Amino acid sequence: MRIANQTTKAVDLVREALDKAKKFEDYHCFISMNEARALEKAREIDEKIARGEEVGRLAGVPYALKDNYLSPDGVTTAAAKMLDNFPAPITATAVKRIEAEGAIMIGRSNLDAYAHGSSTENSYFGPTKNAVDPTRVAGGSSGGSAVAVALGIVEFALGSDTGGSIRQPASYNGVYGIKPTYGTVSRYGVVAMASSTDTMGCFAQNADDVNLVMDVMAGKDAKDSTTLEKFWQPNLPETKGKKIGLISDFMGDGVDAEVAQGVKDYAAKLQKAGYEVEEVSIPMLKYGLAIYYIVQPAEVASNLSRYDGVRYGLRSEKAQDLDSLYQETRNEGFMPENKRRILIGNYVLSSGYFDAYYLKAQKARTLLIDAYRKTFEKFDALLCPVAPAPAFKFGEKTEDPLTMYMEDVMSVPQSLAGLPSISVPAGTTKNGLPIGAQLSAWRGNDQMLLSIAKAVEELS
Ligand code: GLN
Repeated sequence: MRIANQTTKAVDLVREALDKAKKFEDYHCFISMNEARALEKAREIDEKIARGEEVGRLAGVPYALKDNYLSPDGVTTAAAKMLDNFPAPITATAVKRIEAEGAIMIGRSNLDAYAHGSSTENSYFGPTKNAVDPTRVAGGSSGGSAVAVALGIVEFALGSDTGGSIRQPASYNGVYGIKPTYGTVSRYGVVAMASSTDTMGCFAQNADDVNLVMDVMAGKDAKDSTTLEKFWQPNLPETKGKKIGLISDFMGDGVDAEVAQGVKDYAAKLQKAGYEVEEVSIPMLKYGLAIYYIVQPAEVASNLSRYDGVRYGLRSEKAQDLDSLYQETRNEGFMPENKRRILIGNYVLSSGYFDAYYLKAQKARTLLIDAYRKTFEKFDALLCPVAPAPAFKFGEKTEDPLTMYMEDVMSVPQSLAGLPSISVPAGTTKNGLPIGAQLSAWRGNDQMLLSIAKAVEELS
């Protein structure tokens, strides 16, 4: 990562990033730009450097901020009309931490509204194009951040991952993405999706850059009671000889042959780099998607109930009385996918169905966690694809929401169990579309995964 110092000016780094953002405007990575403030901050850093003052570990490094992180620089929209004009009154803890080290936000990156989706096609502002093939989706929900890194506009970008929203777009665009152990980075100041699986992570071009950004963001925050004491270390651990399980359940039926081959090739590289690889089956994984699409909408329904036209954001002009204020505001402010999740969520939480759906799903979730726990008695890490196929064409999955949900089949089990999981580039298809391999581990072993990925990086 290029960091400002005596010879590299922060202003030049920021200008370069802003120029590239303009050049690639068509890809629609950004919802809004932060040009004036970014240049002002860069100047301040350059002045500090000139005076010989301390400037931090990310001094002058431009980054893209997923537009569901609150920050008073500009408005935070969560890509929803509901928050179209919402000036954030606070700064997310993660943003505070990286900016305290000198990083500079150049723009707010695009996402599916409220992070619901796998393609950015649910964004109120229109979708982001894939970095490699602009006729295809960026992936989602953090598609804007992934493409901004893949196009080289910025060297890192922040994202959020509730069920794959960092890992899947990372895989679709050929960059690194990390969903850390649940509780590693504070969720304070990030628009909530599903609170029991929401995690904050980042995109970058290599394992060391991911490690640096995560080291800066990780750690306890009094404002988020689910945060863990900081376990992140500045350096990656030694991991040679670790045993990795290739998940056979995610390598067969329903998986694109080229994707499966890319992951197999990655397994071969792992062996070459000094790791043991053996196939493993975890039958419980096949229930992951069904569990997720009950638990997650339930939490979404609760979290989105605060958008009532009174407290935040949009207030419909059409309202006649209190009931129609709620109805009209929600009707106008939410995207169809947001509404679908609110309906499903309230249904599974309703008194007649709570035991049959929500409670059952939570019990199955515990069994899934137990299955992982047992597997990690024998293996240090697990390998599988990130998604069943490479980036798809626009419109291909918008007609039938269930086909879009299938995108998440390989990324939601880790989220339900709170496990760390990274997406790493694993070659391309014959058409040049990026393939992603996914490495997961038991909680707290995030850096082991990055160390393994780095060992493979060093082979080439
Ligand atoms: N694609 C998944 C969903 O639509 C994950 C979203 C996310 O991680 N924010 O729920």
